[in-house]
Order: sequence, then structure tokens, then C-alpha cells
Amino acid sequence: MTQRFHCTACGKCCYGQLPLTVNDAFKYADRFPLAMVWTPVRQGGKDFTMVSQLGATIKLANRKELAVLIVPTAYIPPSFPCPALAADNLCGIHTDKPARCRTMPFYPYRDEQFQAELLTPQPGWACDTSESAPLVFADKKIVFREDFDAERQELEDQIPQIRRYADYMLKYTPQLVDSLAKVSLKPKGGQVVTSLSSFLTAIRHPNAQQIAQQQLPVLNGYVEKTASEPSLAEFHCHYLSGAKEMQYLAGQAR
Ligand code: SF4
Ligand code: SF4
Repeated sequence: MTQRFHCTACGKCCYGQLPLTVNDAFKYADRFPLAMVWTPVRQGGKDFTMVSQLGATIKLANRKELAVLIVPTAYIPPSFPCPALAADNLCGIHTDKPARCRTMPFYPYRDEQFQAELLTPQPGWACDTSESAPLVFADKKIVFREDFDAERQELEDQIPQIRRYADYMLKYTPQLVDSLAKVSLKPKGGQVVTSLSSFLTAIRHPNAQQIAQQQLPVLNGYVEKTASEPSLAEFHCHYLSGAKEMQYLAGQAR
């Protein structure tokens, strides 16, 4: 099976949450409101093996395991554009955009052979998948693979930091396991959100104070943007508590 795809730069996929590599999250700490997003996958799920390799594996009380993606994320409501999206719907940081955006629509947390379904545009997206678009996927392989391989490599390189964070959080907030187990039972799956400041603390990032100083105004900006919209209460609460933690971290001398 072969598939074609061309991005027409409609900007429609530049809304809502944007998963980042650890390096990109820190690089854009002055731009994106960041959070750590945990997405559990149950044993037997299609992506279980890949997720347990790139994320963490958690043992449940019933002796089963959960594979969990733990991803630094630009935590943006689905109705909000990425702060880097310009008025003409083009990316304002195109030449230096995050690895996730360069690899779109492919997704390196999934086995390469299962990438085909990601090439079907979502409703409202203007991606060109016609016969005149370039061939991008053939014989269960990605044709132009440089970005995919680079992002996958970054994800592999950051595994020790992600596992260290998982160990830290499970030690100090053991109730997280129950939250993940509960979310994993939802028919469409779900996520648990923790703060970037907990990640900075867990991995003892040497520039934690500076990153916190960059994040603080960004989070405060999103506190304001979400204050008057009841449907965004969950995001608003995260920005509020995240800003509070960042304020503490920003003021800490190392
Ligand atoms: S960084 Fe650029 S390409 Fe990526 S989501 Fe934002 S606007 Fe879109
Ligand atoms: S929705 Fe498709 S065409 Fe529009 S910016 Fe995203 S990848 Fe490009």
C-alpha cells in the first residue's frame, strides 16, 4: 500500500496540545505553557511495546502492567492556536520549529508499520492526499524519514530522564498509579497532567531557576486567557498551580 501527503499550510493542526521532546520543551520555555502529560496504554494495546520502550512501565495491584507515555507538552486548550502560529496561518518559527512539528503527520511513539492511518486528515484539515501529492509511505515504510528518525532518536536519548521522573513521582505521589489505572479504563483513553516544575526538580536540571523564570510569565498569560471561560476550568487550574510552583522555583537560588 502506498500513500501520498502534502501539507498546504492551512494551520488547522496547530491548535491544542503539542507534545514536545525534553530538549524542545526547555528551548521554548519562554513561549509555550508547559506540563507533563501521562498517557497510559493497557497491556494488549497496539502501542504497548513501543510506549513501554520510550516511556515507563508501571505495575498495577492486579499484577498487570501499564505502559505510560510521559511527555513534556505545550498544554494548550483545543480551541486555542499555538502561540507560534502567525496571523497568516504560517508557523512563526518554521525554520526552527519543534521536532514534533517537523515530523507531522508521522508519530514516532508508534511503530513505523502502523503510521499509515495518521495520513488521513482530520475533519477540517486541508492536507493534500491526492495523486499529485508526494509519495510519503510505501511498503509499511516512511519514504522521507530524516525528521522521523531524528525525533525517535531524541525520544530514545531522553528515556533515562523520563524514567527518573516516573520513579520520583511514583515515590512521592503514589496516588498517581490509581489515577493512571482509572484513566486507562476509559473507552477512548485519557491523560493525567503533572507540572513541569516537578520534572525540573526530579531530574535536578542545572538551569531550573532560569527555565522557571521563563515559564512564569507564559503560565500567568494563560491564567488570564482562560479565566472567564468555564469550559477551560481544568486548564485554568493547571496554569494557576503551575505558576505558583514556578514562582517558588524561579526564586530559589542554586
Ligand atoms: S510551532 Fe509552528 S508548526 Fe508547530 S504547532 Fe506551533 S505554529 Fe504549528
Ligand atoms: S492540517 Fe495538514 S495541511 Fe494543515 S497545517 Fe496541518 S499538516 Fe499542514
